[in-house]
Amino acid sequence: MTERNLICIACPRGCAIKVTLDDNKEVVNIEGATCKNGEEYARNEVTHPMRNLTSTIKVTGGIANVAPVRTNGDIPKELLFDAMKVINQASVAAPVHVGDVVIENILNTGIDVIATNEIA
Ligand code: SF4
Repeated sequence: MTERNLICIACPRGCAIKVTLDDNKEVVNIEGATCKNGEEYARNEVTHPMRNLTSTIKVTGGIANVAPVRTNGDIPKELLFDAMKVINQASVAAPVHVGDVVIENILNTGIDVIATNEIA
């Protein structure tokens, strides 16, 4: 048996959660989650952690050289570094609008990278 102590990030309340895993890494107990979202977060965090990624992307021909972007959903935590590399190597031409897909299906995750600000 192993125990993982987590702070839930599914809402601002930040509950302390303890997850117990058996020797096969199966979740056998979750304590401290005060709602179903927290239980789901804790279970995912110890089995296949996911994260939303925020960054900036290069912009050509605009009033600014970069635009803020984020993924439009969570991607596996272990892909964050590779996803950052893809974003760092990419660029988009101005104008950029909020919600524009700047990278489609990043790393075949089914998740797009979208702009979160206007760059004229
Ligand atoms: S367990 Fe529920 S209430 Fe607590 S931080 Fe997570 S989402 Fe919020």
